[in-house]
Amino acid sequence: MAGRAAVRPDVLVVGGGNAALCAALAARDAGGRVLLLEKTAPEWRGGNSKYTRNVRVASPEYPEDEFLRDLIEVTGPDLDRQLARFTIGRSRELPAWMEAHGARWQGALRGTLQLSRTNRFFLGGGKALLNAYYRHAERAGVEVRYRTEVLALEIENGVFRRARVRAPEGEAEIEAGAVVVASGGFEGNREWLRRTHGEAADNYLVRGSGANDGRLLGQLLELGARRRGNPHGFHAVACDARAPRAEGGIVTRVDAIPFGIVVNREGRRFADEGADLWPKRYASWGGLIARQPGQLAFSVFDRQVMGRFIPPLYPPYRAERLEDLAGQMGIDAVALIETVEGFNRAVDSDAPYDPGRLDGRGTRGVDPPKSNWALALEQPPFFAYPLRPGITFTYLAVGVDERARVLGEDGHPFANVFAAGEVMAGNVLLNGYLGGFGMTIGSVFGRIAGEEAAVCGRAA
Ligand SMILES: Cc1cc2nc3c(=O)[nH]c(=O)nc-3n(C[C@H](O)[C@H](O)[C@H](O)COP(=O)(O)OP(=O)(O)OC[C@H]3O[C@@H](n4cnc5c(N)ncnc54)[C@H](O)[C@@H]3O)c2cc1C
Repeated sequence: MAGRAAVRPDVLVVGGGNAALCAALAARDAGGRVLLLEKTAPEWRGGNSKYTRNVRVASPEYPEDEFLRDLIEVTGPDLDRQLARFTIGRSRELPAWMEAHGARWQGALRGTLQLSRTNRFFLGGGKALLNAYYRHAERAGVEVRYRTEVLALEIENGVFRRARVRAPEGEAEIEAGAVVVASGGFEGNREWLRRTHGEAADNYLVRGSGANDGRLLGQLLELGARRRGNPHGFHAVACDARAPRAEGGIVTRVDAIPFGIVVNREGRRFADEGADLWPKRYASWGGLIARQPGQLAFSVFDRQVMGRFIPPLYPPYRAERLEDLAGQMGIDAVALIETVEGFNRAVDSDAPYDPGRLDGRGTRGVDPPKSNWALALEQPPFFAYPLRPGITFTYLAVGVDERARVLGEDGHPFANVFAAGEVMAGNVLLNGYLGGFGMTIGSVFGRIAGEEAAVCGRAA
């Protein structure tokens, strides 16, 4: 049997993203012997966390009550309110803890100034943060094994005994005093997505890690863990349809939508492109496009607004005439021209155009309306980005308590099984998204899981 740990670890951490690293660092700080198993090769380590940019934290400038109100506004009232309040309270400690483990900060990006009060931005992004965590962990004596997938957890009567793993040398069993499951959601599992969303799922892009297949999430639920979150929901934004099927990261997101119109492959508009300001509008378009034929849409705009949004990775289609643009888009030119002309006629040009606020410059007599930032598309060249739904993460989760212990269906915790990050985020985030809160959840519960698992694993 290959890959057996030389010394039985106190804490086995499954996963290699933010939650896992926070758990490993905290468990090591608490004196535990820690073994971390990451499914991917070292160059792909960091899961979805490597694509992040910021974390949301409570502070004197951003009071806990306001943070909670913001959360409830996006996710609805069904969250575990007590756990959410607890998470927010513990987020205060994160900046100092993160700095002590290698995090460095940078100013908020231009264009997202409203986040500078609520969110801290990582210098160099999530990849740099994760690299710093790995360096600290290895220096502190955490053993990290890559290309090692946990296939199954053996749990008897609520007690974790060993994990079955697959490593390059072969399959093995690894015993440990406690386990922290930090292996993310199931957004990388096409078959699971097909079960919940039908064939449309074949056309979704996975913005983050294709390795997050939810294997252990599913297994914990089968083993009797309490089911939390939303089994059908996922967070999805509009991504460039030319992006890779997975691992496209942040740069494939298309921010052009409010600056023009969006048509489906039949050349028809289907939603209000001027409905609300970031971050709300940003999260709704993935779902809207998922409901269109072929899960394909196009953001169409003209020269007037070029340069007003963050340029995405791929260049737009570009043409002097709409019929030529339609040719590049692969859609019917007559339908596109009809839609653009109908939209142009409906623009209320009396109101002044101001992309910096909800300007109320909308349309009249066109369905659906565009309620802000309506400008006639009349100045060539014309541009288009092809769009597909890009999944960020899923909302299904295992129930946990304030000690990050996985709860059984009866509400009693498993003895030595802890969870952190996306695998338990659905306790406090069931719908929508509050920018930076994914990293808050993973960091708060990663730390707690690591500390608790170290105590429990050393005693085992
Ligand atoms: C493009 C993008 C941008 C984002 N930006 C932000 C942001 O700025 N701020 C924010 O707060 N959130 C952001 N998010 C959400 C954020 O990424 C997640 O909330 C967070 O990273 C989840 O951390 P995690 O550790 O739970 O999962 P991950 O970081 O995804 O880590 C899971 C790890 O588990 C490994 N794994 C899976 N199964 C197994 C197994 N069976 N055995 C061993 N290893 C396994 C995977 O390989 C992976 O490394 C973003 C997400 C995406 C996709």
